[in-house]
Amino acid sequence: MRIGVMGGGQLGRMMALAGYPLNMQLRFFDPSADATSGQLAELINASYDDLEALERFIDGLDAVTYEFENVPAQTAQFLEESIKVFPSSAALAVAQDRLVEKSFFQDLGFETPRFVRVDDRDELEHGLSNLSFPAVLKTRREGYDGKGQAVIKTPDDIDAVWMEHGGEGLILEAFVPFNRELSIIAVRGQDGSVRAYPLVENEHRDGILARTIAPAPGLTEELQEKAQACIAAALNELEYVGVMAIELFEVDGRLLVNEMAPRVHNSGHWTIEGAETSQFENHLRAVAGLPLGSTECHGYATMLNLIGSVPDPNDVLVTDGLHLHLYGKEPRPGRKLGHVTICAPDAATLELRLGSFISTLH
Ligand code: AMP
Repeated sequence: MRIGVMGGGQLGRMMALAGYPLNMQLRFFDPSADATSGQLAELINASYDDLEALERFIDGLDAVTYEFENVPAQTAQFLEESIKVFPSSAALAVAQDRLVEKSFFQDLGFETPRFVRVDDRDELEHGLSNLSFPAVLKTRREGYDGKGQAVIKTPDDIDAVWMEHGGEGLILEAFVPFNRELSIIAVRGQDGSVRAYPLVENEHRDGILARTIAPAPGLTEELQEKAQACIAAALNELEYVGVMAIELFEVDGRLLVNEMAPRVHNSGHWTIEGAETSQFENHLRAVAGLPLGSTECHGYATMLNLIGSVPDPNDVLVTDGLHLHLYGKEPRPGRKLGHVTICAPDAATLELRLGSFISTLH
């Protein structure tokens, strides 16, 4: 199998690593010449609207997928005319617009934060009178890792937030006083079968994922079933093929959908060592039309992102059950450069190993 991947960041790199044992060859397409997947596999360097480069990219491939969700929907549509593209451009389009995405989940019968569309200052004032304070103003498109959004705590914040973020194409959401943030990852095969990983708990710092705990502490069957019903409904409605992630807010046992990612997800990196089949392998299996693998987990795992700088491997690799992943990227403040996953057979051992890892950082 030869599979093309739009985007060439660390998600693509981990996909390439998962593809090797199955003798899948991956080819990446990324506008950046130093995209890290290029260290592992062929990389075509061009902008997403370069049709001649896209033709070259798909030459000899069996299917195309993405590791980056802001590939222009027109590019995916163009590719779909000549080759199988999973997930489809329609699924990508839903995930690219926060307003469409939240409406999609509401139409399926799932709860989201309350929201209104905002295209001018009057609509913002009107939205605030409906949703009240605090509220979050976000761009509908292209924002990620907390970029392009601002919390409006009181009426005094409106002017400053509008000066910085105001304009067309926005969404205003009620600020959710969540107990914690969770996410669920599932995969749908070409035969329509669906398999889900356990819900995980996520901690964000400055809008960037810092830590994932798998499974989410205190996870009940009821909560897992609720989340699974939500992601299965989304996957089936979109006739989706591949891995999807849904980010959720837990509020006193209720689950509110924040957003979906039409791709493998940072909160699923623990599956490489912590689950029977990793999210990367299951994504490739789905895209290639192969049977899906078990999503059972081996025990407990914690994943910590390495952001801005990486520790000395000599220090961190002394911790039992720890796996270090370095993405081969140039250090820059706020940049995801790698992650560690710490696995353990039980929660108490995991806590000890986590303590050991943290002490090696100081
Ligand atoms: P997003 O880019 O929409 O995933 O938002 C990034 C982070 O901002 C989320 O992981 C939350 O921690 C926080 N956030 C986003 N929307 C809301 C909301 N409506 N209420 C509370 N926190 C939010």
